[in-house]
Amino acid sequence: MKNDSEEIASSYDKYLPYVVDNECHRLALKSRDRSGYGIIKHRGKNHYAHRFQWLKMRGAIPEGLEILHAKGCFRDCIRIEHLSVNTHQANIDQIKQDAKQFCRVGHELNRTNSYKYNGSTICKLCKAKQLVEIARHKRELKTRASSQ
Ligand SMILES: [Zn+2]
Ligand SMILES: [Zn+2]
Repeated sequence: MKNDSEEIASSYDKYLPYVVDNECHRLALKSRDRSGYGIIKHRGKNHYAHRFQWLKMRGAIPEGLEILHAKGCFRDCIRIEHLSVNTHQANIDQIKQDAKQFCRVGHELNRTNSYKYNGSTICKLCKAKQLVEIARHKRELKTRASSQ
């Protein structure tokens, strides 16, 4: 029987759709896991999109190793140049390091784009986006209330 990686490499002839964001190619499909990793469905099974991309373009991943994103890369990035094979420990180390330097969606947390609040680091770009959303929501509620 063929294993997963051989199966993907040989049968999946379409490339994953993406949108360009800075240097990254972010999966243009909607599904994400809780950490923001892109998820694709292939033959009824869920796969990590970046892992899938590697299997498709570079082939099998050696036993016990994982696919890592480049430093500061978006979690849903599938650009092959931003991916590498490494150990689980290296993956954990990088995620920890990234968490300090980048927000959940990948904005750089430098001195101008971040501030401390209650011991956690807040991303100004994300915060601004959130405030715009809240304002929009409030406006909507108001219009709804006044049209009744
Ligand atoms: Zn990337
Ligand atoms: Zn952010």
